[in-house]
Amino acid sequence: MIDLRSDTITKPTAGMRAAMASAEVGDDQFGEDPSVNYLQERVADLLGKEASLFFPTGVMANQCALRTLTRPGDEVVVSKEPHIVFHETGASAANSGIQFREVGKRGTFNCKEFLAAYNAPGHIVHPPTTVVAIENTHNRAGGVIFPQFELECICRAARERNVYSYCDGARLWNAALASGREYSDLAKPFDLVSVAFSKGLGCPAGSMLAGSKEIITRATRYRRMLGGAMRQSGILAAACTYALDNHMEQLHNDHKNAKLIANTLMESHVVDLDLATVQTNMIIFDLKESAPDAPTVVARAQKLGVSFFEFGPRTIRLVTHRDVSTAQCVEAANLICSVLKPL
Ligand SMILES: *Cc1c(COP(=O)(O)O)cnc(C)c1O
Repeated sequence: MIDLRSDTITKPTAGMRAAMASAEVGDDQFGEDPSVNYLQERVADLLGKEASLFFPTGVMANQCALRTLTRPGDEVVVSKEPHIVFHETGASAANSGIQFREVGKRGTFNCKEFLAAYNAPGHIVHPPTTVVAIENTHNRAGGVIFPQFELECICRAARERNVYSYCDGARLWNAALASGREYSDLAKPFDLVSVAFSKGLGCPAGSMLAGSKEIITRATRYRRMLGGAMRQSGILAAACTYALDNHMEQLHNDHKNAKLIANTLMESHVVDLDLATVQTNMIIFDLKESAPDAPTVVARAQKLGVSFFEFGPRTIRLVTHRDVSTAQCVEAANLICSVLKPL
């Protein structure tokens, strides 16, 4: 089976498992896990922040970020269809009591759109805007990179208004590598940034928040409140450190493979795909009227040994990752083209 459902299916390599097995550990609640401490310092450095904090999952990192930066009743400005609204089973409302204002299109928005959505504090009816959250890369928009100029402008405008800026950077590594920028350039404009190790980097678990010492100290309390304060979590942190040392470069390959698949799909007349959206390791495309619908295409491809998700009645998402080779991607692209023929 060629599995293009998600980069989360990637499995720990033998080298990673060995690093985990030999990790030095201690009680992280007492600050005594050397492997966690090392990773936290290294990721803070990598992202140009004072401190960082280790989490079991990306959802918890997002939830902890929102809990740390907002109060119930606040409004958070976001892109259309962000993970924190679409994929966290209502957690932001349940945990933080906040509401969202979705702006822009295709996963990005500009400074003007942020300012138009911004509500100042103290108004008698409008909920105050206290956070602007950007997803980079944006999952539901097909792994697109947030334009650097715009995010710098948005974060500056936010800071001038005492609004916190947050980056859901579950795939920040992909954004940086694909745009040729430093991780810290992408992280720098934000007060708080998340990154994930359990996606394209192949770790079994692990996400982090990075920001100022003051914000990370506050976040540490909410991590515990959310049940994410662990003990000998160095076993997980060691996998993440291993991935930083050994799995990062592979992301370039994932990006090349996604372009390869996209170019093959473009040869089909029933595929509606904007190549400009294929910037990292995802391909999201629509099926024209003359093609079968998405469930049919998914089922047909599954029978031939390629699996992926439908993202709408006529929309499909493919994700490349380190556990599918270039040859498998070529094979998958050809098989997908063959199942797009009308019934
Ligand atoms: C996957 C993902 C998350 C959540 O990560 P989990 O580790 O699955 O909890 C958050 N944000 C984005 C953009 C993601 O793609």
